[in-house]
Amino acid sequence: MKLIDLHEDLAHSSSKMDVRKGKIQSSIELLKTLEEPLVFSVLYPHVNTWDERATRLSERYGFATASSVPMFELLVQQIKFYYFLERSGLVKIVRGARDLDSPGVKLLLAMEGVDVLTDPYDAYILRDLNVRSIGLTWNYDTKFAASCMSSKDYGLTGYGEELVRLCNNLGILVDLAHASKQSLLDAAQVSKAPLIVSHANSRRVRDHVRNLDDEELEALAKTGGIVGITGINSTLGDNGTIQEMVEHANYIGNSYGWKHVALGTDFLGVEHPPKGFEDISKVHELGELLGEHGDEVLWKNAERVLRLVVT
Ligand SMILES: [Zn+2]
Repeated sequence: MKLIDLHEDLAHSSSKMDVRKGKIQSSIELLKTLEEPLVFSVLYPHVNTWDERATRLSERYGFATASSVPMFELLVQQIKFYYFLERSGLVKIVRGARDLDSPGVKLLLAMEGVDVLTDPYDAYILRDLNVRSIGLTWNYDTKFAASCMSSKDYGLTGYGEELVRLCNNLGILVDLAHASKQSLLDAAQVSKAPLIVSHANSRRVRDHVRNLDDEELEALAKTGGIVGITGINSTLGDNGTIQEMVEHANYIGNSYGWKHVALGTDFLGVEHPPKGFEDISKVHELGELLGEHGDEVLWKNAERVLRLVVT
């Protein structure tokens, strides 16, 4: 089965578990059992900022808490990890559209939150390191954009707008997962390329701060973009099941068009995966439950957007 997963936390988890061979939510070995998997492999460069809110979040979601590890160093460590996997012959890093047809496991380097950047022009350096997707925030506000946890939703800042424009020019996807509503709406105004929301569900189906409301989904669809249905339990429903993932896909597909629905599991980033969707091999079951829309959601829509943006 072909697969494009818009979000997996391989590098961040690699200090705690064997993401090469482990019997865990996802590993290179598990991915190899699928036909042509492409995974957005996340760069998650966050340290404890000693901001009360972020500190509470760090306790919950596991920042690298040692303040002696600078964010930039963390970013470089994680990039180095993916290059190490490639040198070991386990994966191919996607450097451009030509690599989309490479055999084996492909990784697309995807940054989650840009607080580590000094200014938007650091995007030139990220591009040279083959980072091909940039998420504007994680769960706290930055100088680029307000996050979904913001107590004052200021949307994109001037820096944020400039970063979106640069990403458009450099062939880097812009990801609005974890962003505030106004950040997403602002990005949809500025961006000339389809936007992605790599891992989120529908707020109409489940009222959760990480999910997208109808206005956001409409704005995203107008850019030609995609939302990756995700397995984050709290965003799903009362039971946290694979069927609830399908409910979110059905709502978005039937309301805004199936070409906007994709998959972003957040495997290795979630503590408790959905029942029936415990590891990446379960995409077979998900594909069956999605019926005629299985291929679109599991890879076709993401591939279309990749071929448009990542030239
Ligand atoms: Zn996330």
